[in-house]
Amino acid sequence: MTITDKTRKLLWGRSGNRCAICRRELAVDATPYDEESIVGDECHIVSGKPNGPRYDPFVPAGKIDIYENLILLCKVDHKTIDDQYASYPVDRLLDIKAKHEEWVHGSLKEDTATPSIKVTRRGAPAPQFLHRITSGKTLFSLLHDTSGASFDNDEPKSIEEMELIGDFFQNMRDLIDIVTELEPSAAIREGFLLNKSIEALESAGFFLFGIKETLWTETGRGNPFETPVLRLLILRNTNPTIIKVDTDRIQQEMKVPSPGSPKQSDGPNKDQKLTFG
Ligand SMILES: [Zn+2]
Repeated sequence: MTITDKTRKLLWGRSGNRCAICRRELAVDATPYDEESIVGDECHIVSGKPNGPRYDPFVPAGKIDIYENLILLCKVDHKTIDDQYASYPVDRLLDIKAKHEEWVHGSLKEDTATPSIKVTRRGAPAPQFLHRITSGKTLFSLLHDTSGASFDNDEPKSIEEMELIGDFFQNMRDLIDIVTELEPSAAIREGFLLNKSIEALESAGFFLFGIKETLWTETGRGNPFETPVLRLLILRNTNPTIIKVDTDRIQQEMKVPSPGSPKQSDGPNKDQKLTFG
């Protein structure tokens, strides 16, 4: 008897094309010069040969090439289990095979059953205040360790305003992507340019507000992970939701965590903030 095609397909399929011991992939990709290479063996758990590893005279010849007596291994592990058959008795190999197939099954189930479940929630209640940002340095420090951003703004009333706000937010998004790779000199330059951008917004009659929030992302597998997100808001300086309050007193009362250290550059005691529904 030989191993049937059906048995072979079952074995390769349930093993996920991986060695049951080291889990390496058993099909090596083609190169520009060569075809794919198969580096896996369908190994007998109980040998059919009287001098073979784990030979058992009570196992009939018809039960040697069946699925239950085979384990898929790489060539190294195949040689190992046959050379060191005392260390790899039948029970141990059956256990290795069962656990491996369970692992493959579980991994595939995770991949297909929960492909896109993604829940994002706040780590704390939504902030009621956003701090006004008046310096490029403060804004630059908020960009660090940020993995996302959300932008909002008052309706522009002219093409100039639209371009001013649009360019500002576009620049923010570009900076978030590269901020961790900036050399110190480039970082100082960007901070300086941000100052100029904020000045340009303010002379056009806008204020910039922002806060860094921590969102928790759950994907349905593994632990939830933190996602720091920067929220920026550009409002006309006449917007009635803008209020001027005593920062220290409000923080005491609200216990709102301060994002970074905007107070240092925004004035010692007084700080302009925005009520946020
Ligand atoms: Zn292996």
